[in-house]
Amino acid sequence: MNTSTVSAPNSALETYEHVAAASNEVAGLLAKRLKSETQGEVLFSAADRGRYATDASIYQVTPLGVFVPKHPEEVATAMAICRDLKVPIVPRGGGTSQCGQTTGVGLVIDHSKHVRNILNLDLQSGTVEVQPGIALDALNASLKKHGVWFPVDVSTSAQATLGGMAGNNSCGSRSIAYGNMVHNVLGAKAWLSNGELLDFSQFENSAGRARQIGEFVKQLALQHQADLQSHWPKVLRRVAGYNLDIFDNQNVRPYTPDGKVNLSHLLVGSEGTLAMTQSLTLKLSELPTSKVLGVVNFNSFYKAMDSAQHIAKLGSGTLTAVELVDRTMIELSLKIPAFAATIRTAIIGDPEAILLVEFVGSDKEKLKHELKQLVALMGDMGLPNSVVEMVDDAPQKNLWEVRKAGLNIMMSLKGDGKPVSFIEDCAVPLEHLAEYTDALTQVFQKHGTKGTWYAHASVGTLHVRPILDMRRDGPQKMRAIAEEASALVRKYKGAYSGEHGDGLCRGEWIEWQFGPAIQQAFGQIKQHLDPLNLLSPNRMVNPPKMDDTSLMRFGNNYKIIPIQTALNWSAWNVHNDAATEQTTAPGTGQDPAQGLAKAVEMCNNNGTCRKFDAGTMCPSFRVTRDEVHATRGRANTLRLALSGQLQGGLESPEVKEALDLCVGCKGCKRDCPTGVDMARMKIEVQHHYNAKHGLPLKDTLISNLPRYAHIASQWPRLMNLRNRWPWLARLAESLTGLSAERSWPEWKKEHFFNSQRVGASAQEVLAASKPVVLFVDTFNGYFESENAWAAFDVLSAAGYQVHIASRTQQDAPGQHLCCGRTYLASGQVSKAKEHAQALLEALLPFAQKGIAIVGLEPSCLLTLRDESLVMGLGEMADTVAAHAVLFEEFLATENKAGKLDALKAQLTPAKKPILLHGHCHQKAFGMMPSITQVIQLIPQAKVDLIESSCCGMAGSFGYEASHLEVSKQMAEASLLPSIRLQQDACVVADGTSCRHQIMDGTAREAMHVALLLAQHLPK
Ligand SMILES: Cc1cc2nc3c(=O)[nH]c(=O)nc-3n(C[C@H](O)[C@H](O)[C@H](O)COP(=O)(O)OP(=O)(O)OC[C@H]3O[C@@H](n4cnc5c(N)ncnc54)[C@H](O)[C@@H]3O)c2cc1C
Ligand code: SF4
Ligand code: SF4
Repeated sequence: MNTSTVSAPNSALETYEHVAAASNEVAGLLAKRLKSETQGEVLFSAADRGRYATDASIYQVTPLGVFVPKHPEEVATAMAICRDLKVPIVPRGGGTSQCGQTTGVGLVIDHSKHVRNILNLDLQSGTVEVQPGIALDALNASLKKHGVWFPVDVSTSAQATLGGMAGNNSCGSRSIAYGNMVHNVLGAKAWLSNGELLDFSQFENSAGRARQIGEFVKQLALQHQADLQSHWPKVLRRVAGYNLDIFDNQNVRPYTPDGKVNLSHLLVGSEGTLAMTQSLTLKLSELPTSKVLGVVNFNSFYKAMDSAQHIAKLGSGTLTAVELVDRTMIELSLKIPAFAATIRTAIIGDPEAILLVEFVGSDKEKLKHELKQLVALMGDMGLPNSVVEMVDDAPQKNLWEVRKAGLNIMMSLKGDGKPVSFIEDCAVPLEHLAEYTDALTQVFQKHGTKGTWYAHASVGTLHVRPILDMRRDGPQKMRAIAEEASALVRKYKGAYSGEHGDGLCRGEWIEWQFGPAIQQAFGQIKQHLDPLNLLSPNRMVNPPKMDDTSLMRFGNNYKIIPIQTALNWSAWNVHNDAATEQTTAPGTGQDPAQGLAKAVEMCNNNGTCRKFDAGTMCPSFRVTRDEVHATRGRANTLRLALSGQLQGGLESPEVKEALDLCVGCKGCKRDCPTGVDMARMKIEVQHHYNAKHGLPLKDTLISNLPRYAHIASQWPRLMNLRNRWPWLARLAESLTGLSAERSWPEWKKEHFFNSQRVGASAQEVLAASKPVVLFVDTFNGYFESENAWAAFDVLSAAGYQVHIASRTQQDAPGQHLCCGRTYLASGQVSKAKEHAQALLEALLPFAQKGIAIVGLEPSCLLTLRDESLVMGLGEMADTVAAHAVLFEEFLATENKAGKLDALKAQLTPAKKPILLHGHCHQKAFGMMPSITQVIQLIPQAKVDLIESSCCGMAGSFGYEASHLEVSKQMAEASLLPSIRLQQDACVVADGTSCRHQIMDGTAREAMHVALLLAQHLPK
């Protein structure tokens, strides 16, 4: 089948004709029939196919096309079309598999967007029936109010779907208490590839074709009884192959409490190769009411591993987890701002490893007693004072977040050497854990690499990924290490695949694990259920070699196209040493795209950007749920473009489409575990796109605002006519694309920059004892001058001598300064640089004296700490960045230093509750604690932080007619409803555009924190 690259059409509607013309007949026919027979999304462009060619593995196999069913029954329709056309089918959920399970030629069917309902919740029987596309966290969020949960708590709970979890027989951190997926699935309705919809449930009650399948498997199990008993690993964590042992359980935990065979267990772990799941019935557990956590600190890794077997015996049924975090992981966590404080709460001194030991039950007092037993055990084992006891929920929750992020923390390593998943979940009996980990560490050393160990010590499944360079000698080393690791697994009678499944990476090891007879039986099962070989063919049966480089993302032909970047990406352009993890100097990594490609390749497809709960990332995906609009989809698109796998490269319409809804919120910069900074990438890409396609009128208008503001503000009536006359707004929309529905900021004749108020002179502030420089941006200066005045007043009231920064250049002395943000937003890097240069020159003398430069608008001030550093502005950019702070950040620091007593004495008590919305850039730079602390300087202030992502306005994004709806939906996700709920609250939002969005959506006036403080000063 020809799956060669085809360029995408401009309109989705043209897709199938386009594919028919440019690709091949089958693809065209397939797309055409899907389009006419379903209402689902038919994604056959080169970019779409490329985005679905990967998962969280090292593999890349381009599918023929992608189908996103709108209604569940359309899955059957799509299967029927594939049957007619003999096109293979690859079922998919969140696409977070680590072994390449969701990569394959054929039609990928993505269930995660629409097929994600809860069908039936039966609290009486403690069961729930769900569609396969629902994510675990979404399910558990709905169950919470009923006091129950689905306890297979995989680390990817926010993005992993139940269909995918069943497909992989996934296992959570607490599997010692709850078992794996197979122990928690009670039934499945699924289509065979011939179109039959079967009910896979209790064998004894089954009938018809399902019964016949059961009888067939039963016979096979009987026939292979001797092999089953001799070759099947006797551990909890064995997920390789098909569950032939449902009729003769070899797992240390029975598959069902009453020992009755459940046919759905045959599908669990079959990785989409036997049937397509329509729905799953799941067993629910009671939500634990109390938890305690003991963190045992070890000064030897071996000792930690050796202790696991003894710790696992504690707790008379209340022990739910024993999880490892090793020294490397501790050190990496300490370097990540979001995790450092948390990890410090868990360590005593400088441990080599810690074990997180959790007890769960209904009685906290009883659990405290279990904790004491842990302390006593460690004392008996020669480790007194080694346990940090965590009884309160909050510190426990924080520490679990760090542990769950474990793999992602490791993946933040820059350079071509990356931790590679291929032996990362081998499971060995606990009594051999110490010897096994020790021996495998020596194998790594022998091959010039090292691995970081973490995760499920309770069940002998430790995660470890040796660092390999898959573009160079990685595949050979991978093979060699796999051979030696498998010998160790065999020696200790373990399971080679203990959590993440088989896929492309471990398919060839199935026969090694179970022997040829059982492998043949697996082939018979596949043949019996899928005689057409349509469902993910050549995966669990007749799989390829794990090191077949033609199936890899960074295979032999992977090459980056040389480009000249506008921003400096040299921090990513490094080599790293697998054994020491040391990286070479910035710029030495030989990336033909000057580091941009390596920055893009940091995305390992783990899918954290598909989460919906906390954090900012990714507001556009949260609205559309389209892969193309997740940070992952964007990074994959850029990778394809930079490596010549997408015609037209960075200037192509596909890249434009992928980045179109990126609001540049920098949510990913903070929340993406590997630090993919799509906001910065968007600036770079727009620069290249503009060079080819020119700048749209709207971008010219908006970006130049700082240049013409001083003239426009002299004619406010004229300039504001557009807001008064709807026909003019409509005309403006047709000319510029800026929505007539939005009001524009109002020009004023009197504004901060032409007010009479003057601060301290440069000389005065340089000599002052409490100096500060106030940088007032274009927006606060011209449109919301009251904020700038308020900041001036508050700082003055606190006893500071305030100098207002202004241009020092001879052409425009005294004029206002601009950071260049409006130019950056449209990719005009050189113009942004001109403005930033003038700003830096004006600020440098103060920064050199160590004087704080205080800004009000988060996106403007923080440009000085972000993009200014990569625009080639030299050392002065670093000097200024070191002293550039947001208003609230400055006050919070000064307060800690005891310098705000004068201000605090003047502030009058708050009369209303305060609702706080954080600007995305404030959140990205971890500023929310500062602003909360500053609000709390006001006596009796009660502040509630709104859990929101981006407000949706994001500079000019929400003003654009083409983005209006998405912008509103972003705001409606949580920000606006939270504000509407608290009618009496005073709303604080530091971002100009956030305030505008709040006003448009709720008719409520939000204010800058400076104004809030000023309003609490005596008049
Ligand atoms: C950082 C990271 C941490 C991880 N931590 C864990 C962990 O703690 N525990 C764990 O077990 N795994 C873990 N995984 C692996 C992975 O997240 C899990 O296996 C997860 O359950 C997969 O869910 P998904 O929705 O992404 O499935 P996908 O990857 O989309 O699919 C998984 C399999 O199910 C099949 N499938 C999907 N939908 C259907 C359907 N409707 N019918 C039939 N087959 C279907 C697919 O074909 C595929 O074979 C981790 C992965 C990453 C990247
Ligand atoms: S962008 Fe970041 S969070 Fe999203 S898949 Fe890639 S690495 Fe993971
Ligand atoms: S910058 Fe914001 S919108 Fe853009 S990809 Fe990152 S999280 Fe998503």
